[in-house]
Amino acid sequence: MFIDVHCHLTDEAIRANLTKLIEDAKNSGIGIIVTSGLGYEDCLKALEISDYKMIFPSLGIMSYELEGYESVLNLIEKNAKKIVAIGEVGLDFHISVKSDKELQKRVFKEFITLSSDLDLPLIVHSRSAGRHALKILIECNAKNVIMHAFDGSSSHSLIGIEKGYFFSIPPSVVRSVQKQKLVSKLPLDNILLESDAPALSPVPGSTNVPSNVRISAEVVSKIKGISLKKVEEITTENAMRILRIRA
Ligand SMILES: [Zn+2]
Repeated sequence: MFIDVHCHLTDEAIRANLTKLIEDAKNSGIGIIVTSGLGYEDCLKALEISDYKMIFPSLGIMSYELEGYESVLNLIEKNAKKIVAIGEVGLDFHISVKSDKELQKRVFKEFITLSSDLDLPLIVHSRSAGRHALKILIECNAKNVIMHAFDGSSSHSLIGIEKGYFFSIPPSVVRSVQKQKLVSKLPLDNILLESDAPALSPVPGSTNVPSNVRISAEVVSKIKGISLKKVEEITTENAMRILRIRA
């Protein structure tokens, strides 16, 4: 089976068809899906829809909509035993985002500290801020890290690789030269698969779905010159190790 380490099943675009999308995912060989809450209300929904058989929750917040982030910190503390990760959390320095960078960094550090205190892995968002996010993670001595849909240069990924961080590859890898370069640089031991559904679809503008994790796996298989079976085996082993999920 494949593991989708990061997506948003509580998103409206997904939730309306959830039963079918889960069925499709199963039929594509996806055995486990981690759904990431974004903000307090969405985190409650993520907890609610988790069945702890196929769907597991992680709790976080949009890096640039940080109002009320303290309530998310509290919710994580209260549910520490029920969740497989903290996230997504991180930085978003994209040109379209009008949010105070210093505030983002400060809040990100609070989530990193909490992840160390609770011994939970972090799923990190770092749009247009890959280098900055890695720098802070290393400064804060973060140990168990998943860099989701990393859009930094593959040379910057090296410092994360050295620290044993994981990089989860979304289906948009099929149309992104940057992500293909990243895959070619990453050792297999640092690779995970994600859909980030409904975002990062293989086809621009369409709604992404968890079953597309198979597309990520196919691209990794092609770039690495190994069988799809091997990609499945290694990425699933990696994911189970960091998320501490037992099949
Ligand atoms: Zn996401």
